[in-house]
Amino acid sequence: MNTLRPGTLAVHAGNEADPATGAVSPPIHLATTFRHGPAGERVAGYEYQREGNPTNDRLREALMALEGGEEALTFASGMAAMTTLLESLPAGSRVLFPDDCYSGLRMLFSEFLPARGLVVETIDMADLDAVRAACATPLAMLWIETPSNPLLKVCDITALAGIGHAAGATVVVDNTFATPLLQRPLALGADIVMHSTTKYFGGHSDVLGGALVFARDDAFARHVAHRLHVTGAVLAPFSAWMILRGCRSLGARMAMHCANARKLATFLEAHPAVARANWPGLPTHPGHAIAAAQMRDFGAMLSIELHGGRDAALAVAGKLRVFTNATSLGGCESLVEHRASVEGANPRSPQNLLRISVGLEDGDDLVADFAQALG
Ligand SMILES: *Cc1c(COP(=O)(O)O)cnc(C)c1O
Repeated sequence: MNTLRPGTLAVHAGNEADPATGAVSPPIHLATTFRHGPAGERVAGYEYQREGNPTNDRLREALMALEGGEEALTFASGMAAMTTLLESLPAGSRVLFPDDCYSGLRMLFSEFLPARGLVVETIDMADLDAVRAACATPLAMLWIETPSNPLLKVCDITALAGIGHAAGATVVVDNTFATPLLQRPLALGADIVMHSTTKYFGGHSDVLGGALVFARDDAFARHVAHRLHVTGAVLAPFSAWMILRGCRSLGARMAMHCANARKLATFLEAHPAVARANWPGLPTHPGHAIAAAQMRDFGAMLSIELHGGRDAALAVAGKLRVFTNATSLGGCESLVEHRASVEGANPRSPQNLLRISVGLEDGDDLVADFAQALG
């Protein structure tokens, strides 16, 4: 099975016909408890939903095959996956995070993790010399996000994994923006891949979920699994089924997402109202060469910085008709968001920046919508 290409694995992994009925689409097992023998002997391997259930196991199998890992765990959300992983580190552990990253991760490491005894630092991961220097002090974990949110910064996973491992650190990649269809961090040397399956895996803006995929089913992976099963931020079976359903069309969707993003980014970069278009597929993007080497295509998240500051950005966001003003990403519908307006009291995103999740509409309609909004 694992010699198959990602597009085929997305359709088939964990999708064996139901042995009881031959049903080609999987059943949803909602049972919270499973019959066992008088001395607790398991009948079919399951005992209690929080510790594992057949619908989740199909999704775990698909995630392992797609990312090329030995173990996969599913969570109630991407944030639950991150939190469970980071809180599995012993107190006193030092963790390096990227300077540009998902805002929920930033809140987690600035507001919550220090109180749990973790030592937290941020760094520009595109600057390998800076990362090397930071690794001179003992490091437990190096956290990579590429392409990053919302600036679409790209960093070199192979190089960072080498630097992190030389320092004895576990190397984690948030692969939400790329998906395993475009980028496979474990094959590039990372130890753990994290996903918000809420985004492209689910693909329809209607299910929340998270995942971790481990290169090795080692003592640390078992510790994180045990922590998940005890602390309980598990994925509901119905959600697992929805995410698995999304997974079956992931290859087709990513191809069209990427083609639409290319068309829109090319248009936006050339538009006089746009000061800067951030999309790794543009040859002018500072991380283009690295992205071209480590990704099959460049994804469908982009951001633009407008001449005319905050007012210009809000005016454009207000004039778009096909794009909906909403947070999140990875659904069929295209979304736009003025990130600085939704990042709380101390926004990090530039005031003139709009983040765009390019959807599955006809790409020419997306370009035309921005053409009319930019004026
Ligand atoms: C959405 C997102 C998360 C958090 O996932 P939730 O499912 O919303 O908890 C983490 N990382 C990235 C890159 C995301 O886009």
